[in-house]
Amino acid sequence: MISIFDSHTHINSHEFDDDIPDVIDRAKALNVDSMLVLGYDGESADKMVKLINQYPDIYGAVGIHPEDAAKYDDFEDQLRVYMIEPKVKAVGEIGLDYHCDVDHDLQKEIFKKQIKLAHEFHLPISVHNRDAFEDTYDVIKETDGAKYGGIMHSFNGDVQWAQQFLELGMDLSFSGVVTYDNAKKVQEAAKYVPADRMLVETDAPYLTPMPYRNQRNEPGMTRYTVEFLAQLRNENVDQLATQTSQNAKKVLKINE
Ligand SMILES: [Zn+2]
Repeated sequence: MISIFDSHTHINSHEFDDDIPDVIDRAKALNVDSMLVLGYDGESADKMVKLINQYPDIYGAVGIHPEDAAKYDDFEDQLRVYMIEPKVKAVGEIGLDYHCDVDHDLQKEIFKKQIKLAHEFHLPISVHNRDAFEDTYDVIKETDGAKYGGIMHSFNGDVQWAQQFLELGMDLSFSGVVTYDNAKKVQEAAKYVPADRMLVETDAPYLTPMPYRNQRNEPGMTRYTVEFLAQLRNENVDQLATQTSQNAKKVLKINE
């Protein structure tokens, strides 16, 4: 039986206020039975905690997104409270976003602080990187960021960056972006990544895979990204689904 793990989703965001049970049912119907829900502020993190307590196959993560770096210091104590939850399995999403106008030094400082927090709790990191490959690489290298494992969320680099982040111990997670026509470099990277280092995700409600790109994304759509990747890599869909699911459980230390 196919089993798919959506390693990065935000069904705790307002886009899903009205239909979470339906979203989860539709995901199950497409064999997406497990997911990691990431909280990014107090409200979304509280909702994440509710979800992980309600559904056995939903796991959680929490972290301050680089866009909100200025809010980190006020939130750090609260973050520690979430980290104690047994089903919180990662710190994230954290990282660098040079597309937004938040000061780069501040972003780097908060990224490092949250890596330290992850290490304190022996948790892997889920990393967001936009237009900041070099600095993201440098920070992870300098801090041994992947000491307890790590995931490059919605990996959008080329083969060379794939190789470099793999060498740092980071696993690479592919979202609907890989299915886009203009994502040839990402597709090359997705062909290159060893099967045991690859994860899949939606980043719902964003980054909907083809051919549903104009719709709201939701965890079930991970299925289409897996199907695309299997075809791209000339692999069996069931096998790739199972392998990526096992990889997610391994890095998130989920024991069944
Ligand atoms: Zn995200």
